[in-house]
Amino acid sequence: MPEPGTLTFDAPRRAKPPRHLADLSPADRRVAVADLGHPAFRANQLSTHYFARLVDDPDQMTDVPAAARFELAAALLPRLASPVREIACDDGATRKTVWRLFDGALVESVLMRYFGAVSGHAELGDEADDQAGDAPAPTTRGRDRITVCVSSQAGCGMNCPFCATGQAGLNRNLSTGEIVEQIVAAARSVARGEIPGGAGRVSNVVFMGMGEPLANYHAVIGALRRITDPAPNGLGISQRGVTVSTVGLVPAIDKLAAEGLNVTLAVSLHAPDDELRDTLVPINTRWKVAEVLDAAARYAAATKRRVSIEYALIRDINDQAWRADLLGELLRKKLGHLAHVNLIPLNPTPGSKWTASRAKDEREFVKRLEAQGVPVTVRDTRGREIDGACGQLAASAR
Ligand code: SAH
Repeated sequence: MPEPGTLTFDAPRRAKPPRHLADLSPADRRVAVADLGHPAFRANQLSTHYFARLVDDPDQMTDVPAAARFELAAALLPRLASPVREIACDDGATRKTVWRLFDGALVESVLMRYFGAVSGHAELGDEADDQAGDAPAPTTRGRDRITVCVSSQAGCGMNCPFCATGQAGLNRNLSTGEIVEQIVAAARSVARGEIPGGAGRVSNVVFMGMGEPLANYHAVIGALRRITDPAPNGLGISQRGVTVSTVGLVPAIDKLAAEGLNVTLAVSLHAPDDELRDTLVPINTRWKVAEVLDAAARYAAATKRRVSIEYALIRDINDQAWRADLLGELLRKKLGHLAHVNLIPLNPTPGSKWTASRAKDEREFVKRLEAQGVPVTVRDTRGREIDGACGQLAASAR
């Protein structure tokens, strides 16, 4: 267990996961296939099977000659993750999977299906739709939203004291393939009708599982490209359906803004003042509230997208009315209309002495932000009873 306040940026060096098609750009896939002695166009066939048809059994790749099929699958589609435990709630509409990776590392992903327009874990998807002006009319049921919450690291080095993942420290970075595989596996379940509501497609991906995505920058960028590249090169999920959540690694936020990926940025702020944020989000000792919000504003300007400000409401810690006022002022000043506040009632984690705010304090907090014209939503607590909600992912096999 890391000492309180310590930060781990560099993941320990470990054996690398096997190379996978999803690690490679389309051009590199052709090179890899050619290096194995096969015609380069087979790369496109493999991509179609993996990303578009979601095939996981080489027997079904009937357009590839049988001998080549098994050789290519063994070389480029190795099994990266095996499910060790699945737990569901909400009558199956929320499902958490614990995955064992090639070296025994455990990570979790959460699949959430929302019927019609309800608020929740993946609030940002709707928010993004609102921006584009094509949100379903409030009188209709809206279309289903199917969100996968993925892990980007096994463990996390950012050590936020209210988050279960942070308490175990950082084990290792995930590869691009290991991140993508969590989404592909979820997409398969949904396509095969295994989730109540009938066969469907994943519409949203949120990097709000285990890990700090911007501390595993390279692999996460690769995953963002595989997620958003049109099929068959990638999964073809809309960029505005994807959210990257960060504690606020300022240089990496600026780098992300320059990638030309119009994904939504979420910043885990949790306090408007440095004194408190230093203790809740230890990275604040490196980059202060004002610096993080300036970076968020640069991101918003570069992408023309609203930034989501995440704020876990913790009883008597950060939920005072004066902090709501200060937060509202700061956001107006730094981000203008390009901020959206997502309040998260604190989810319980083992060993934490903190709890969610009282209902009246939560209402007052919302009211004060709204009084300043800042859009606010309160996230539902999807997955709480299966330890699958924000900050509860600690990946135990039992
Ligand atoms: N490392 C990234 C993404 C992972 S956490 C980040 O910090 O943004 C996703 C969100 O859940 C973050 O906003 C995080 O601060 C929040 N969170 C963590 N623990 C929580 C808890 N116990 N209750 C509510 N939200 C929590």
